[in-house]
Amino acid sequence: MRIAEIHVYSHQLPVVGGPFRIATSVVETLDTTLVKCVADNGLVGWGETCPVGPTYQPHHATGARAAIAEIAPGLIGAPALQPLLLRRRMDGMLNGHNYAKAAIDIAIYDLMGKHYGVSVADLLGGAATEHVPSYYSFGVGEPDEVARLAAEKAAEGYPRLQIKIGGRPIETDIEVVRKVWERVGCKVRLAVDGNRSLTTGDCLRISRECPEIPFVLEQPCNTLEEIASIRRQLQHGVYIDERGVDLSTVLSVIGQGLCDGFAMKLTRIGGLQQMTAFRDICEARSLPHSCDDAWGGDIIAAACTHIGATVLPRLNEGVWIAAPYIETHYDPENGIAIRDGHIMLPEGPGLGVTPDEALFGDPVMSFGGGN
Ligand SMILES: [Mg+2]
Repeated sequence: MRIAEIHVYSHQLPVVGGPFRIATSVVETLDTTLVKCVADNGLVGWGETCPVGPTYQPHHATGARAAIAEIAPGLIGAPALQPLLLRRRMDGMLNGHNYAKAAIDIAIYDLMGKHYGVSVADLLGGAATEHVPSYYSFGVGEPDEVARLAAEKAAEGYPRLQIKIGGRPIETDIEVVRKVWERVGCKVRLAVDGNRSLTTGDCLRISRECPEIPFVLEQPCNTLEEIASIRRQLQHGVYIDERGVDLSTVLSVIGQGLCDGFAMKLTRIGGLQQMTAFRDICEARSLPHSCDDAWGGDIIAAACTHIGATVLPRLNEGVWIAAPYIETHYDPENGIAIRDGHIMLPEGPGLGVTPDEALFGDPVMSFGGGN
């Protein structure tokens, strides 16, 4: 089975109840990129990549499509059942741009699952659970409002909550963490995410002023060097998110003892093939991690859920998906949704979701098939 055609779509995802605010950006609508790979036997696989705006990471929507345009012509005729070789082929045509290559990688896993009649989770080693934990992320907000929402989400059954901080006085951030703790206590695990925005001084301060609150600090400062400089003075665990840009960096930060876990994004690491290696490295060192992506609809949500289902349960920090902020599903029947703070692993071969292509309009680019 070989890749015969690749079609690329751009689709707008308005933020329901938006905008969504983090320390480094405010987003009102997201431009997602969908990839449809058609095999020479007619089977179809879907992939997706959707940066949460152009400043969260060095990724942006039109950049994803430009990178796909660079590599897609060289993928026509390539074997469709060899994700490792496909990743090397993509690396041979374009340096970096993992987040764009990831959309192709995910589409290939969807194709493979349909070809073999198994789920993507089975291709990745097998699901440890079909009831995959999720977590809820509160945008940067007023302390009382975030605390109210936190109580609501804990009661819904979320096992973990993430509090966004940064971009304002640290006193307000400390207040929001304290108020959430007062409302939810040990009912849920807590992550406090600075999205690269804190100074080392403010990071030390929030840790010193909340010594009894068992949160982890997620990507508090911009650089790994800043985190290294204060790591031994912090009273809280540190997770790396935005700066965990590839497997080499992951190995490096683990080797230096720079972190206690990761918030990993499937597209940032390069797709399911690379994410599987990341999962196994973390398991070898008993490091908890999430399996998220920055944003996007049912396709990326399904991909994150399949890899998330395979994580060793005691290390599974959950699968964050953007579904609570999106009005529509691509797949009207089997869209990926959160119930009681968990996501049911989709059934059926491949990703287990079938998008209604009419939603996406005409492709913005097509390769192969006489195009
Ligand atoms: Mg984060």
